[in-house]
Amino acid sequence: MPHVLDPELRHALAARIRYYNEMGIYDFYRRPVSSGVGEVPIAVGEEETAVSTNQTESGEAMSPRKATAVAMPVVEENICEAIALKPEQSVSDPVQALKIIREDLGDCTRCVLHKQGRKQIVFGVGNPTAELMFVGEGPGADEDAQGEPFVGRAGQLLNNMIKAMGIEREQVYIANIVKCRPPGNRTPEREECATCSPFLMRQIAVVKPKVVVALGAVAAKTLLAMNASMMQLRGRFYDFRPAGVRSNDPNWDGCKLAVTYHPAFLLRDPRQKGEAWKDLQMVMKELGMKPPVGKNAQ
Ligand code: SF4
Repeated sequence: MPHVLDPELRHALAARIRYYNEMGIYDFYRRPVSSGVGEVPIAVGEEETAVSTNQTESGEAMSPRKATAVAMPVVEENICEAIALKPEQSVSDPVQALKIIREDLGDCTRCVLHKQGRKQIVFGVGNPTAELMFVGEGPGADEDAQGEPFVGRAGQLLNNMIKAMGIEREQVYIANIVKCRPPGNRTPEREECATCSPFLMRQIAVVKPKVVVALGAVAAKTLLAMNASMMQLRGRFYDFRPAGVRSNDPNWDGCKLAVTYHPAFLLRDPRQKGEAWKDLQMVMKELGMKPPVGKNAQ
């Protein structure tokens, strides 16, 4: 049974979170709940305390310190709100918001890919208010050289796929799970995906697409946080909400996600283009789009 949070404590907590935010701290992590009987550890920033909950249930007057501790089950919900608060969320202009995310990324050294030969970070490109977003795996050599996702041969095929849908590349937003080129175009490691993808999640929350298309297994598995084969993943929509962040638009609470083959795979096995086209047609139907007459993804 959750306790109602005392308004004074709510105010104090909000002030504390604002204080951290002003110092540039936006992520809060809750320490694991103690298994000790009747104890509720709290974690707000660096604080952690445990007190007996029996005292309150017996109706005994609480000290302010104890009151803070026993209110934690409700405070926890408020901290979840704080987890979702990112610097770009105070900005309504999506171009500006994406710039803030890019600045936050900086000259990123958060995973090993920063020291494995990348020329530059490949952030993402396209319409910052796109209804449709494509997410690939990671930059290849051409993308690394040009600083833009999907500009090599696979990019040309993606452009054709987009055109076949009756729209232009500039109308969609395109990004990757990892923003630095894995050496030798190897598949990014799970750790690298986990480290880099929070920035992608923030980009998605800014763009607020109606549909995200995951290109290939790495993108699909990372976005959906599930392990399955492409055969299992394709052919249906998933309800998707970017993990760890929420949009500043109360009317956007996630979108649909579809999975299709990565264009690089389609270059290796063109027989699967028909299957990819089926996936795109499913997306078009969802978005109310009709393909131009005579166009296909070949
Ligand atoms: S792949 Fe992502 S997390 Fe890793 S160094 Fe590049 S930008 Fe940073």
